[in-house]
Amino acid sequence: MRRLIFAANWKMHLGPEGAAEFFQVFSQRYRQLLDREVWFFPPAVSLKTVADLTRDRADVRVGAQNIYWEPKGAYTGELSVSMLTEAGGAAALVGHSERRHVFGETTDDTAKKVRALLDGGLTPLLCVGEKIEQREAGSTLAVVSGQLCALNGLDSAVLSRVVIAYEPVWAIGTGKTATPGDAAEVHAAIRRWLVDRGVAERDVRVLYGGSVKVDNVGALVAEPEIDGVLVGGASLDPSAWATIVGAVVD
Ligand code: PEP
Repeated sequence: MRRLIFAANWKMHLGPEGAAEFFQVFSQRYRQLLDREVWFFPPAVSLKTVADLTRDRADVRVGAQNIYWEPKGAYTGELSVSMLTEAGGAAALVGHSERRHVFGETTDDTAKKVRALLDGGLTPLLCVGEKIEQREAGSTLAVVSGQLCALNGLDSAVLSRVVIAYEPVWAIGTGKTATPGDAAEVHAAIRRWLVDRGVAERDVRVLYGGSVKVDNVGALVAEPEIDGVLVGGASLDPSAWATIVGAVVD
């Protein structure tokens, strides 16, 4: 059975108190469904609160929005994989477009972060996606495969532990969404890239992200190529998020 992933990227919102208030509502509104998992990427300061509040929920996973690849040391402001694990985290976003375009993260950096997470037994959720000018120039698939190069050199057993999120940069936080068909085409290319490197079809998980909301999530997750969604803005409202996670799938 395909297990859909509904991942919430809270970005720089919801500190520990806000996170606790969120779960007072969300836990009432959303009960576990067997065919889906709910992942939360809160700000680092709220990680432990979210992990503690969801400890007894087998359908929930908690992760960081970013990590650093070194195990410890003089790296002011950074978070290591072992610190994340200690706080109850099991995954991390890597290469989110805001990390790439606001903070200058390179594909080389994403490669090191992916490896650090995999070595620590955690799940990297690698974000890839093109800017609007790249889409208009017809280079979407070239840009995405360039970003997937962060995974070069990983053997298939390790590669199958990586989850990918296709997030066109022009769709993030803009209200514009790729059509389910457009997204599915890129998802199919990402799936092929992974399968060509030895990942079994059943292990490939490619999420879609970019202005996913209550009224478009159903059509997106109904696409067989789309294994779930990564959601920013609409994941901050616990009622809307419960509705999104509960979206009917055929
Ligand atoms: C994101 O931050 O990954 C994202 C998809 O944001 P939004 O849903 O707000 O477009």
